[in-house]
Amino acid sequence: MIARMQQDFHLAMLSLVGFMVLVCVTPYAIYRYWDGSYLIAVVDSILVLFTLMAVAYAWLTGNTKAAGFFVACMFCAGVVIVVYGLGPVGLFWTYPFIVFIFFLVPPLRALLLLLLVLVTLLLFAVIFPGQVFVDGFQLVSFVVTTAVTSFFSYVFAYRMLVQRRQLQSMAAQDALTGAANRRQLDQALEFAAGPGRRSRQKDIAMLLFDLDYFKQINDSEGHQAGDAILVELVQLLHKHTRISDQVYRFGGEEFVVLLEDITPEEAQLVAEKLRAVIAEELHSTQRAVSASVGVAILAAGESWEQWLARADAALYQAKTGGRNQVVMAAGIPVANKASIPAPCS
Ligand code: GH3
Ligand code: MG
Ligand code: MG
Repeated sequence: MIARMQQDFHLAMLSLVGFMVLVCVTPYAIYRYWDGSYLIAVVDSILVLFTLMAVAYAWLTGNTKAAGFFVACMFCAGVVIVVYGLGPVGLFWTYPFIVFIFFLVPPLRALLLLLLVLVTLLLFAVIFPGQVFVDGFQLVSFVVTTAVTSFFSYVFAYRMLVQRRQLQSMAAQDALTGAANRRQLDQALEFAAGPGRRSRQKDIAMLLFDLDYFKQINDSEGHQAGDAILVELVQLLHKHTRISDQVYRFGGEEFVVLLEDITPEEAQLVAEKLRAVIAEELHSTQRAVSASVGVAILAAGESWEQWLARADAALYQAKTGGRNQVVMAAGIPVANKASIPAPCS
């Protein structure tokens, strides 16, 4: 449970809001029943009950967006009714709800919802003078304080959103090349080979790339030149694969391309095309650069570690077979070696 909340920020926020509403609003609901303020008592009870139901829905379905939006809209309606029912005392409730709403929906949506609440309350003030605000001064004070609270909550929530996105991308991407990182690869492989994977008509292929004689480029042209080649390689892999195909940095100058919903023959053709593109287009200042490729199709019942080991074994064969070639995991070289002369090691 805690692990799931650590992974899912929105679920954690929604649960926190649910807990706060349960703890803070329930005593008031009980008091209002006892007090005879039945409208407010019912509104408070509905708020607590529906918030808990929305939290349960989010836990069961994972749809935190819909649950958050529902609770935010309900809070807005609840605030308006409470203020209308309680008069000026009810105004105090708007402040915690402003903060709650920024926990539940994206910042701009929260700001628009709050604007709607404010306009509705002002309309009430015009239609029922003296019911919501005691006098004009109180009305102006309320508008100014809620506007300031909403604005600073918006700025804070927006900064949080930007920082969270940056952190997510840093945690998922390789800093140098922009390819998905090893952690993402492990997760993707685990998912592809795991029981959660939906049954597909076609296969899933792993293409494991390792640049040939890359160390020599670093040694002769410098580490920066080597880095530039890695960046260019990832650009080429992206350019010549489908949007749905993922490119991962496996480590060093080794990369994995995962091809979903593909036949072994198609995977072999794609691998060969990529090998040819690299051999043709990837150059350091002094020489052409090539890559060896090991291809493995995920077999039924195979673990992701076994799948990766087969791709690695195929890559090893491509290396020992002379480099700049594609080898299917079955072990048969399928590519004609290109005419790039291998530098002497
Ligand atoms: P082979 O054809 O057998 O693959 O020869 P190789 O020289 O490419 O050998 P190997 O794959 O073992 O060498 C990997 C080299 O990649 C060693 C390391 O200096 C270099 N390398 C790893 N990561 C980076 C990086 O981020 N930037 C740069 N510039 N070089 C890197
Ligand atoms: Mg290597
Ligand atoms: Mg290498």
